[in-house]
Amino acid sequence: AVAARATDLSKVYGEGETQVVALDRVTVDFRQAEFTAIMGPSGSGKSTLMHCVAGLDTFSSGSARIGDTELGSLKDKQLTQLRRDKIGFIFQAFNLLPTLTALENITLPMDIAGRKPDKQWLNTVIEMIGLSGRLSHRPAQLSGGQQQRVAVARALASQPEIIFGDEPTGNLDSRSGAEVLGFLRNSVRELGQTVVMVTHDPVAASYADRVIFLADGRIVNEMAHPTAERVL
Ligand code: ADP
Ligand code: ADP
Repeated sequence: AVAARATDLSKVYGEGETQVVALDRVTVDFRQAEFTAIMGPSGSGKSTLMHCVAGLDTFSSGSARIGDTELGSLKDKQLTQLRRDKIGFIFQAFNLLPTLTALENITLPMDIAGRKPDKQWLNTVIEMIGLSGRLSHRPAQLSGGQQQRVAVARALASQPEIIFGDEPTGNLDSRSGAEVLGFLRNSVRELGQTVVMVTHDPVAASYADRVIFLADGRIVNEMAHPTAERVL
């Protein structure tokens, strides 16, 4: 099954002489329980693609859907609701609340939404996070890699249809990055989570099941079972 899909998706910024075609008729499926990396030079449209499919940005033509929901027909309020209910986000900056413990950070989005996390799922996520004994620590007491693992667990907590990561290892050294990527990969393998990650890093991309390459707003290549050497 398909967790998210873009069909002939285009995004144009500006008008006339200053017009920029950020996405040029991109068609791509993100299948359930698949880990996809999006690579490409700066300005190739990676963020725009992610933002359009994640309902964070409007698009100019074509369609985008999350699960069975077409985004083009939704109003802002419905898009916000859809992001809350169906999408998990991980950013380069960990974006944890400093006054809350790791565990409180993990359940915060669900608390705000007034939803109860599935206990068994949450326990499984917490077992996978590799933070035993540190769940009551605040972010400042955790390493960067530990903080980002908390952010991954936060994204996973609501059992979203899909998780989008925007350079999730961009602020981490390679060892911490590997811990975060291993956690993401396990969430795909063991929990059936769908993950899409924008990255510049060939090593990060090698954790994915496939890589799509963008250039000038188009998909120019796709690779299954990437290795860092082949992606470079
Ligand atoms: P990437 O994530 O691969 O670096 P982006 O999706 O950020 O690429 O950008 C794709 C193209 O769209 C670039 O040419 C960029 O300058 C342009 N762009 C992105 N956001 C805006 C914006 N808000 N206004 C105008 N142009 C933009
Ligand atoms: P609200 O109207 O509740 O403030 P937001 O649009 O701020 O809704 O956030 C909804 C979801 O989208 C949140 O999970 C948030 O983390 C994510 N989000 C908001 N802005 C961005 C962005 N620029 N890039 C990536 N994710 C974002």
